Amino acid sequence: MAAAVKKLWPETKLAIGPAIEDGFYYDFDKKEPFSNEDLLKIEQEMQKIINKDEPFVRQELGRDNAIGLFEKIKEDYKVELIKDLANETVSIYKTGNDFLDLCRGPHINSTGEIKFFKLLSVAGAYWHGIETNPMLQRIYGTCFNTKKELDEYLNSLEEAKLRDHRKLGPQLGLFDIYHEQAGAGLVFYHPKGAILRTIIEDYEKKEHLKHGYQMVITPHIMDVALWKTSGHYDYYKENMYFSSDEEGRVVVLKPMNCPGHILIYKSKSRSYRELPIRFFELGTVYRREKAGVLHGLLRVRGFTQDDAHIFCLPEQLREEIKKIIDFVFETMQVFGFQQWGIELSTRPEKSIGSDEDWQKATSALEDALKEKGLPYEINQGDGAFYGPKIDIKLKDALKRTWQCATIQCDFALPKRFDLAYVDAEGKEQQPIMLHRVLLGSLERFIGALIEQYKGELPLWLSPVQVLLIPIKESVAPYAQKVKEELEKNQIRVDIDMRNETLDKRVRNAELNKIPYCLILGDREAKQGQVSVRKKGSGDQGAIALDKFIQGLINQIQQHK
Ligand code: ZN
Repeated sequence: MAAAVKKLWPETKLAIGPAIEDGFYYDFDKKEPFSNEDLLKIEQEMQKIINKDEPFVRQELGRDNAIGLFEKIKEDYKVELIKDLANETVSIYKTGNDFLDLCRGPHINSTGEIKFFKLLSVAGAYWHGIETNPMLQRIYGTCFNTKKELDEYLNSLEEAKLRDHRKLGPQLGLFDIYHEQAGAGLVFYHPKGAILRTIIEDYEKKEHLKHGYQMVITPHIMDVALWKTSGHYDYYKENMYFSSDEEGRVVVLKPMNCPGHILIYKSKSRSYRELPIRFFELGTVYRREKAGVLHGLLRVRGFTQDDAHIFCLPEQLREEIKKIIDFVFETMQVFGFQQWGIELSTRPEKSIGSDEDWQKATSALEDALKEKGLPYEINQGDGAFYGPKIDIKLKDALKRTWQCATIQCDFALPKRFDLAYVDAEGKEQQPIMLHRVLLGSLERFIGALIEQYKGELPLWLSPVQVLLIPIKESVAPYAQKVKEELEKNQIRVDIDMRNETLDKRVRNAELNKIPYCLILGDREAKQGQVSVRKKGSGDQGAIALDKFIQGLINQIQQHK
């Protein structure tokens, strides 16, 4: 692609162009923006280069020679890249008569090996991702060995567009995120979204109580001293919002729930008999995120975690981790996710605690995974600053992954906060702490749910489960009676009384992804019946109201 761009617009400067998960991109410095027609032109030029089946020739150069070479052809970005490298020698690849590029390799042998490709989009990208640097143009593309694979991939992109929660959310009246006046990255739940969120929260509260957790609620602003003790001030400051109170005391808008839970643990003396103690909170946190990384419900500045901290004895650690893993899978299945990937993240460069503790914590997590027989990948250096972690990522209907559950093992915070329990001999010992979320950020999870189901949420999660459509004005009293009956049975119901045709109202219910429509006319009113239309399966015929309600209740129960 870079060779084709250079051929068409020789004055263009090349920045970087790596392979990425589903293809590749290249950043170009070119005055005029690339248009969609330009992408087609580039594709045609690429095909010509491929047809020529020209070899890629590797050459190794000394650093200074390489700098000289790229200076001569005025590729300033390449010069800068080489200067930043510590290498004595660098490799370049040449193809055709006049194209060469800095590349670590390995590389395919010749252009003819490139089979089915497609350029997908253009986006702006700062050089090195830094906002004060020049803005470049990034062209994304993809490439496959067979036409079938390429077509499947392009279809999945189209499908992903249809499922995009950023579109479906506002369309279905669930939420919006784009209030100019409030600022970016903040979520407003509209009535239907608030109901969905409440259903999820109620489910979680009930399940956590069943699984031996205690609910706690902690403040949103706390003294900066607390965050200095926890280490967040030193290791997480750039993500925190600060404010001050009347006495000039600096306070922090909580980015995490851990210190609050720790203070509750510390509020009295604890005996080994009480452990494990599991504190659960639907904790709303705020994190400074750069405007450029905000993305729908996935990356926001304020969100709520289903957060828990478990304080346990060393000998309880492995069992507790295994219990959390079971709880995660139970919960994911209830919400309809059947596939996942697991990663174990180890010590990052910026971190607290001794090597020995990190070792202990990492092997506790790893042993639990092994004992559960779960496959996992190691994510070197991606742990939290206070401990290693297991990430369980959901895979949705399109096999895309969503960060959800995390289990972190922590020896450091108990030390920093001087946490203790009294052991059987009456001596003070330090508990171990586990941080964990099941769904993670509820905002992100709701995004995942919307995309998984294309907005057609399962019956038990649907904000409106049944829509009543009275055929004419005179059935309004009967419709009201049906509504009350359904509500009495805790079924979420709406009436569409608009003076529109039946067809139009049914279509509208479909667009709003409402699972059931009940058509009500004189006949239904006289016989105490409802005519049922099920989304996706159409007309189900007339049925006695109480029978319909019983059927619906059974169906909802199954999911819970
Ligand atoms: Zn925590």
